[in-house]
Amino acid sequence: AQLERQKLIEAHEYAAKFYHYLLQNTEHGREAKAYLKRRGMSDKLIDQFMIGYAPERGDLLTGFLDKRGYDLRLMEKGGLVASRSDGTGFFDRFRGRIMFPIRDREGRMIAFAGRILHDGQPKYLNSPDSLLFNKSRVLYNFHEARPEIRKSGRVVLFEGYMDVIRAWDAGVRNGVASMGTSFTEEHVAMLRRVADEAVICYDGDDAGQAAALKSAAMFENAGMPVKVVLLPGGLDPDEYIGKYGPESFVRDMVNQPVSAVKFKLIFLRKNHKLLEDEGRKDYVLEAVRMIAGLDSPAEREFYLKELSREFEFPLETLKQECFEIRAAAQKNRPAGDKLGNRWNNGRNET
Ligand code: ATP
Ligand code: MN
Ligand code: MN
Ligand code: MN
Repeated sequence: AQLERQKLIEAHEYAAKFYHYLLQNTEHGREAKAYLKRRGMSDKLIDQFMIGYAPERGDLLTGFLDKRGYDLRLMEKGGLVASRSDGTGFFDRFRGRIMFPIRDREGRMIAFAGRILHDGQPKYLNSPDSLLFNKSRVLYNFHEARPEIRKSGRVVLFEGYMDVIRAWDAGVRNGVASMGTSFTEEHVAMLRRVADEAVICYDGDDAGQAAALKSAAMFENAGMPVKVVLLPGGLDPDEYIGKYGPESFVRDMVNQPVSAVKFKLIFLRKNHKLLEDEGRKDYVLEAVRMIAGLDSPAEREFYLKELSREFEFPLETLKQECFEIRAAAQKNRPAGDKLGNRWNNGRNET
């Protein structure tokens, strides 16, 4: 198995160079290259992230690996090639896709994410989990970002590969992304070992914000401080940089994250009709309920004050409300779960 892993890593390294060469130096890659240029990817970035192109024609990589003596059945296990259902041989698994090589934490190539060049489904195709690759334990760009994560004590978490790359170009050298939508406890554990704090910078659309809420809760549950960047107009980081430029992205977005509490309060607003009295009242009550779940009295006070100012509710009333919610939860501990997962974090209140 050790030998198989070794061979498969080698094959991925070959494949990455092969796809990269096709993109940068051949007619096969011309259209893909023009597409990447349109999207603001310089040659330098393409080289640095070893971005490549897998042509529509589905036999080039297979032929290349075969010629070099790689066992195609092993290549199939690693997801580089696929076999014909009638058993007559193998063909390239990735076709007509921009290829992002994925490295493990030691920098070895272990998988690919392929973005379709033309319209089609799925937009992104990842390597299947294999003896090399377990997507719930791998973060894109982790190997490259680790020095800066350690130095700054901070990791910036993105949704997409393009976002990581454009952000890197803008000077954000501590950015990583999970493979697709699944951000896992294992990822949190991995990041906690090298960073003191996480900054979530997901897409500004509803899907991205809902995902940010989930990821933020995971960091909190692991006791890791987390903040969230709010991108305007449903933009993702890549689109923001295209529209407002790299300096603004760093200065106004990455360096201005809001606290997780603030983010939750903003998120909560979406579910309430704040222009109606009833809606405002419901929002304020739910917000107090959320604030009541905070461990720190100073934090509770801070957010209650904000709420009181914005909604012109007397602070004393909100404090009383908050106090009663906490007292009730105290008396009836299991019901405290309703206050959200940070309630007491299993600790005893004195
Ligand atoms: P692009 O800018 O090239 O359209 P994106 O990164 O903005 O790509 P999103 O649709 O915002 O793409 O999706 C965010 C991330 O979710 C992608 O980078 C990819 O990791 C993952 N993803 C999206 N669609 C799929 C899919 N069909 N299968 C697997 N993963 C996907
Ligand atoms: Mn999205
Ligand atoms: Mn996106
Ligand atoms: Mn995008």
